[in-house]
Amino acid sequence: MGPPLAPTSSFATGSAWVWLGVLLAGAFLSYMVIALLRHRAVLRRRLRAANSKLVELRTRDPLTGLMTRPDFEARLDEAVAACDRGARPAALLVVGLDNFRTINEGYGHQVGDAVLTTMARRLSAFSPAPLAVCRLGGDEFSVLLDAGVEQAGTLGRRLAELLRQPFTAEGTELQMSASVGVAVYPDHGSRPRLPGCAALAMRSVKQVGGAGHAMYDPAMAVDQREQAELLQELRHAVERRQLELVYQPKVDARTLQITAAEALLRWQHPQRGTISPAVFIPLAERHGLIVPIGRWVLSEVCRQAAQWRGLGLRMRVAVNVSGHQLRQEDFVRFVLRQLAEHGIPPSRLTCEITETVAMEDTAHTLSAFERLRKAGLHVSIDDFGTGHSSLASLRRLPAAELKIDRAFVQDLASGDNARSIVQAIVQMARTLGLRVVAEGVETTEQRDALVALGCDELQGFLFARPMSATALALWADGDDAQAGSAAMFRPSLFQATAPAPMDGQAGPGVR
Ligand code: C2E
Ligand code: CA
Ligand code: CA
Repeated sequence: MGPPLAPTSSFATGSAWVWLGVLLAGAFLSYMVIALLRHRAVLRRRLRAANSKLVELRTRDPLTGLMTRPDFEARLDEAVAACDRGARPAALLVVGLDNFRTINEGYGHQVGDAVLTTMARRLSAFSPAPLAVCRLGGDEFSVLLDAGVEQAGTLGRRLAELLRQPFTAEGTELQMSASVGVAVYPDHGSRPRLPGCAALAMRSVKQVGGAGHAMYDPAMAVDQREQAELLQELRHAVERRQLELVYQPKVDARTLQITAAEALLRWQHPQRGTISPAVFIPLAERHGLIVPIGRWVLSEVCRQAAQWRGLGLRMRVAVNVSGHQLRQEDFVRFVLRQLAEHGIPPSRLTCEITETVAMEDTAHTLSAFERLRKAGLHVSIDDFGTGHSSLASLRRLPAAELKIDRAFVQDLASGDNARSIVQAIVQMARTLGLRVVAEGVETTEQRDALVALGCDELQGFLFARPMSATALALWADGDDAQAGSAAMFRPSLFQATAPAPMDGQAGPGVR
């Protein structure tokens, strides 16, 4: 009898199947475990990526990709600590783009964003490589450099130059400039004071027109304190009746008759004496006080003009209008209401608006100009020649008068350049049918040159200094209190003064 092979083999076959099953199950299980582990690793990687993205979002500026302030501050802490341990000093640069608002308003936010990213790229690519660069917010940036006082000054200048290079943003060719303030640790202050010092230095650059750099100077902090005090006092100046207006005549270049009087603001401070508008107007503009002050000026000018009219004085009055006022929705309405209340025809009031403001070209400025013109008021473009007007942009502005900036009048004697600038302005004004006024005329040589070049009206110390409304009325009345100030001025003609022929009014004639 042979061995019971079949059952054995069937047993063997059966257990082989079992083993195979076990093996397969094992393989499957380990496959699953590996797959699970892999999956977990992928998940963990994804999680880590998401997390670092989140951290990045928290520490990076979403628009420019630059570091944000907290990380930058940490880098500054490290640099300061390293310096305390004997490493090199740390230079902190605060960068503020000049007139960035006009880019946003004029070209839209897309171009504004492109400008910010371009500037951020330039800052990051600066050489020597910054220790850190961050966006402080808006149009301000901070750069941390490994540099001492001497080197930091040069680097500040180079950085301002780099940011001035022209570029194209969203198909628009642009040129920006920036104000760069520099403060160095430990030379200029402790760690907590350093950012404030650099920001102060940056603001001091802005105050003188931007496009440059300045190293922190302790005098800046004193100025700042004084400015803060002045600002507090300025808030009360209107209600305490400390503001007053003086008037400076404009004269016809040919006949020397008075055509208008420009109102100029003075602040009679109880302790500091008379404060110039050159000091407090910029302060008022920066801190939102120019609108109430400007309203006071307008109503006071209208009241004064009505009083002069009552005395028989026929001349136009001019007021200086700041860009902030012009951007107020109800500016034109306010002016017209004041004029109506005092019975002054709108054609008797000139609004002097600086060329820089006039060329801002924002929708608001243009429409305010248009509404002023429609209402019959005169617009004069002040400080002309200092801005960047083109003939094309001037043509769009409904102005009646260009006022050549004093700087060109001053330079008339010294150089041909000023003469050819005045000549070009007069020609441009002729083409556009605008009158030309030259301001700051102090000498007879300047007067003769300006008359020869074809200016229509003149204004300056040669004819009269700014004076009180009463002094002006007395002078007009023949009480010659101002005789010394202008020998060629003929006050007897005052009452017969013709308004400047504008608005299509022909020639001289008393109105
Ligand atoms: P502006 O409108 O260009 O005024 C001319 C400035 O030159 C006045 O200075 C005037 O006193 C001065 N000036 C006139 N003739 C001569 C001259 O022959 N030689 C010299 N060296 N200077 C002369 P002021 O009164 O100090 O005013 C400075 C600026 O303050 C004005 O410049 C104007 O921009 C601003 N301002 C004055 N009053 C107001 C105001 O009521 N509102 C606004 N927003 N700004 C005002
Ligand atoms: Ca003026
Ligand atoms: Ca001026």
